[in-house]
Amino acid sequence: MPTIRMLPVAVAVTLTPAFAARLAAQAPPEVGGVADRAATITAVDMQRRIGILAHDSRGGRDTPSPGLEKTARYIAGEFGAFGVKPALGTDFLQWYPLTRVGPGSRSGQSLVLRQGGSMYQLDPSSEYLSLPVGEAVRASGPLAIPEAEGRAEAGSVLVLRATAQNLGERLGELRGMLAGGPVGALIALDAPDRYLSGVRLFFESDRLTLGRPETLDVPAAIVPLASLPGALRRSVEHGEVPAGWTADLRSSATVRVDSAMNVVGWLEGSDPALRDEYVVFTAHMDHVGVGRPVEGDSIYNGADDDASGTAGIVELAQAFASGPRPRRSLVFMTVSGEEKGLLGSEWYSEHPLFPLDRTVATVNMDMIGRNWEDTIVVIGKGESTLGALAERVASDHPELGLAVIDDLWPEERFYFRSDHYHFARKGVPILFFFNGVHPDYHRPSDEPDKIKAEKAARIVRLVYLIGIEVANADDRPAWDPAAYRRVVESGDH
Ligand SMILES: [Zn+2]
Repeated sequence: MPTIRMLPVAVAVTLTPAFAARLAAQAPPEVGGVADRAATITAVDMQRRIGILAHDSRGGRDTPSPGLEKTARYIAGEFGAFGVKPALGTDFLQWYPLTRVGPGSRSGQSLVLRQGGSMYQLDPSSEYLSLPVGEAVRASGPLAIPEAEGRAEAGSVLVLRATAQNLGERLGELRGMLAGGPVGALIALDAPDRYLSGVRLFFESDRLTLGRPETLDVPAAIVPLASLPGALRRSVEHGEVPAGWTADLRSSATVRVDSAMNVVGWLEGSDPALRDEYVVFTAHMDHVGVGRPVEGDSIYNGADDDASGTAGIVELAQAFASGPRPRRSLVFMTVSGEEKGLLGSEWYSEHPLFPLDRTVATVNMDMIGRNWEDTIVVIGKGESTLGALAERVASDHPELGLAVIDDLWPEERFYFRSDHYHFARKGVPILFFFNGVHPDYHRPSDEPDKIKAEKAARIVRLVYLIGIEVANADDRPAWDPAAYRRVVESGDH
């Protein structure tokens, strides 16, 4: 290496910033360099990052939890250190609201039925189930059945019949029916006792939903037919107006507003004509937290699900940040709330930080560290030109020792079970890298020491190489028209 003293004066003079920029613009693309940078995604790095993300101290990364936030801040810190830019000005974290609704105390729940001089008080712990709808709501009025088109008179307490087969549907209709003026609702359930026990279990655990509270402000309860007084039961069974009956109903629930976050960073593309188009890489950083102990272990580490994909996103960000920029911009995203129903990616898809109509592809990795080592399932590869591209890149790089294969388990509907789905339904072509489930799936034994880091690293290298091609191609990926109609227009797969 020459010292400064030996540098020819002419070179020093001509190497002005403008000249250097022109020189850089004329430099040929680094063909060999791409494979070299892919090789910086190593098994050692993957294992180390999965060890950090899935460590017991992260508490299984439940949404929301301190362990999840610690994980998000770790990823944001890595992004920042690589020179990846925050998607929100100075912040990598996209916060979103959550509502947690749980059962209220039994002492806040009551149901009293009256006819003439008779009064029947039902026990919420055994004779009926108070639905957790609002914080403390009370109503009384005459019982009524829905009129034509599901309406009922204002001021009444609506009585709806339901069976085990249609209870879910009835609950779904409730909000609309109550909009017409009834002040409360009783769902008379014609089903075996053990069925109600199952429903009770469901409503006795907290439910997490996206967004701010949207609870009903009218009380509602599920009452087995057998709990109703005989005369009332007969009129309900015959679909007759329960004349002369009134109900006084109190429900209670705990409603808490909470929040969780996605981590979003990006690298700007090099081509002024294409840099406002984006290639997005996703994985979910959350898992299911602490749960029922199995063999003395209660921390559900989620090393494969999905610390493996999350480590992959961090490694991709590092590899891309250390090399020349491809033409399109790149977005690196780790979402949360996946295990609660794809909440973080749903929020992003409704509040995108980069326009979805200029997001040309989303590549999702969820569970890439276990099972067989010479193939990787790529769900969605039949839907767009991304599939053929992925197959070609895999065969152009035999050193990866990976063939991309179709969904092996269509009956499991994995297509709808990870975060790419919220991009696909919005019209973004997707690829979903997934190694399938295993006996440690959603158990405390999904531990870092069971990860096949060498395999995971090869998958992330493949994603890196596919990402470069998509980001540099003249044309953006195109949907297969039939798949577009199915996925985007009909919401199917
Ligand atoms: Zn997962």
